[in-house]
Amino acid sequence: MKEQLQELENEALQKVEEASSLKDLQNVRVAYLGKKGPITEVLRGMGKLSKEERPVIGELANKVRGNIAEAIDNKKANIEAAELEKQLAEETIDVTLPGRPVPTGGPHLLTSIVEEIEDLFIGMGFEVREGPEVETDYYNFEALNLPKGHPARDMQDSFYITEEILLRTHTSPAQARTMNAIEDKRPVKMISPGKVYRRDTDDATHSHQFTQIEGLYVDKNVRMSDLKGVLDRFAKQMFGEDREIRLRPSFFPFTEPSVEMDISCKVCHGEGCSVCKKTGWIEILGAGMVHPRVLEMAGYDPKVYSGFAFGMGPERIAMLKFGVDDIRHFYTNDIRFLKQYHQA
Ligand SMILES: [Zn+2]
Repeated sequence: MKEQLQELENEALQKVEEASSLKDLQNVRVAYLGKKGPITEVLRGMGKLSKEERPVIGELANKVRGNIAEAIDNKKANIEAAELEKQLAEETIDVTLPGRPVPTGGPHLLTSIVEEIEDLFIGMGFEVREGPEVETDYYNFEALNLPKGHPARDMQDSFYITEEILLRTHTSPAQARTMNAIEDKRPVKMISPGKVYRRDTDDATHSHQFTQIEGLYVDKNVRMSDLKGVLDRFAKQMFGEDREIRLRPSFFPFTEPSVEMDISCKVCHGEGCSVCKKTGWIEILGAGMVHPRVLEMAGYDPKVYSGFAFGMGPERIAMLKFGVDDIRHFYTNDIRFLKQYHQA
């Protein structure tokens, strides 16, 4: 029996030595140390042995078991270390390879234009005031001299939420709100940028949602020449010092007199070309002297105060400045379009 055990030990140690994977080792463990293994078998036959022999064989069997288990554990550690080594070698990172580029965002072209316009007017002493996009009929129309049933309301057909609440059709309500909120009726010099909504069919130059920037200056002795001076500075700073402006008579219910402002065509310098439709001028914005009714409704005495107001569309400004041919480019979020202007 001693020889049998010795033989089993040698055999098992040999197999452990030959094992090249954890799976092989597991097989050896099951084969020699398992419940159905040969060592268990030998121990089972111990009943036939004499009293003297039993402890000797028992001790030997345990020793053989221990030796095999120890050899398996050692081999297991070796195999695991070798596998780890192999894995590390395979996964080595070549730090000299160029990295994967991380795309960086930038402000949307419209955001950049709005901020540029804001900066320009802040430089002339205007404050930035924002108003709600969901507006009351009163502030959107009535306070701006557009009473219910006024035919000019048709120009600004909107999305109504109730009879009295709508998505604002222009940023002008911010004028009325700002003036109303000033208790001591001091002078106001503000611009108000934001989104506006009109029930329009989307095409290359129309959108049901667009951006506006409204400007208002109310003080004693504000004159048309002040308006012209501010707009001229705006046009030159935005489009180039060589640009001229001209004012044409127009109509808005909230200003009197009202004007449209054009800038001279950059392409033909007034000669007439396809960009300016042969006129030499390009329409930029609407403006005028604040209607006395509007001042009065906001609590300002039109005999003491006068003011001017203007409203422009940053989309139009951006289209002219960068030659964008379709207003929908601003809203469809095509990265190829947008990333051209990240440095703008
Ligand atoms: Zn032209």
